[in-house]
Amino acid sequence: RPALLTAERLSKTYGATPALDGAGFSIAAGEVVAVMGPSGSGKSTLLQCLAGIVPPDEGQIRYRDRDMLTLTDAARSALRREEFGFVFQFGQLVPELTCLENVALPLRLSGVGRRPAEAKAAELLSRLEVDDLAGKRPGQVSGGQGQRVAVARSLVNNPRLLFADEPTGALDSLNGERVMGLLVAAAREAGTAVVLVTHETRVAAYSDREVVVRDGRVRDMAGAV
Ligand code: ADP
Ligand code: ADP
Repeated sequence: RPALLTAERLSKTYGATPALDGAGFSIAAGEVVAVMGPSGSGKSTLLQCLAGIVPPDEGQIRYRDRDMLTLTDAARSALRREEFGFVFQFGQLVPELTCLENVALPLRLSGVGRRPAEAKAAELLSRLEVDDLAGKRPGQVSGGQGQRVAVARSLVNNPRLLFADEPTGALDSLNGERVMGLLVAAAREAGTAVVLVTHETRVAAYSDREVVVRDGRVRDMAGAV
């Protein structure tokens, strides 16, 4: 399958600390790639570079027909809003909005009307079995519940490319399975490419392919499909 996103020779240093040192990465549409590796190895930095949040010091990132590093800030923001989805371990929900409004927010920001946006949001909350939280604010739900709401939000605009940093980190195994089931379904049904950072092998088992980050470099797992 042709690559949706390809990164080559990414390097990034924070002060004297090397976070990435010539990292390469590639993902195709509909593919779920697990990014593993020890704490401090550069996984989060890699994700932030690929997502256009943090610029690498050196290297190249191509997304579809675009050179990510020479896009204007406005064009990068538009890509993040319209084509990418994000879910982080401590998913930042907007505290003033209800859970339903939080999930609908990416659609609202893309100009979708309130009713259709909230209908889609309600469907996703239901698939993660947190529909009862629709009217609650993030401050009224548990960490695990909030994480599932953040996963629902990350998928609401049918992203082509989803960045998930420890999306099951606060979840028990049943809810971790629900979240991974939904991410894999997005890949299979909508062709979403999923970059999944995890340190849990049972979560990585849902992926099509695993890569390991070590000392700021990426290598494919031996024997990976
Ligand atoms: P991982 O996600 O694998 O734990 P990170 O990408 O978070 O790894 O970190 C890689 C290295 O870069 C670590 O040494 C970390 O301390 C450093 N680092 C990451 N982000 C920053 C930052 N914003 N400022 C300074 N150092 C950072
Ligand atoms: P999980 O995070 O896996 O959903 P928890 O063990 O954190 O489960 O929470 C169990 C229940 O306790 C939740 O279903 C929720 O109703 C309640 N709860 C937990 N934390 C909070 C909180 N900070 N505010 C309100 N209710 C909470």
